[in-house]
Amino acid sequence: MPCPECGASVEVALETEHVCNPERRIDFELFQLRAEVSRLGEEIDDYLASAQGRFEQWYAEHERRSGRADEPPEEPPDEPGA
Ligand SMILES: [Zn+2]
Repeated sequence: MPCPECGASVEVALETEHVCNPERRIDFELFQLRAEVSRLGEEIDDYLASAQGRFEQWYAEHERRSGRADEPPEEPPDEPGA
């Protein structure tokens, strides 16, 4: 049984006696975090490659462009003496 806190393999009989090594525990947490981050990265890549993701990207781009075009043209500043 790996310890859920530090990932050390702990004999079931010794489970109650096991004390996590703090360094090992930090390593294990970082390892899990990295695995999670890389999984998230893959999910984002997958998402962006999907039809929905491609649509979202197109839509965001479209919104950015048309949002600007829909704005009324700026009045030229009335500068005295110009
Ligand atoms: Zn432990």
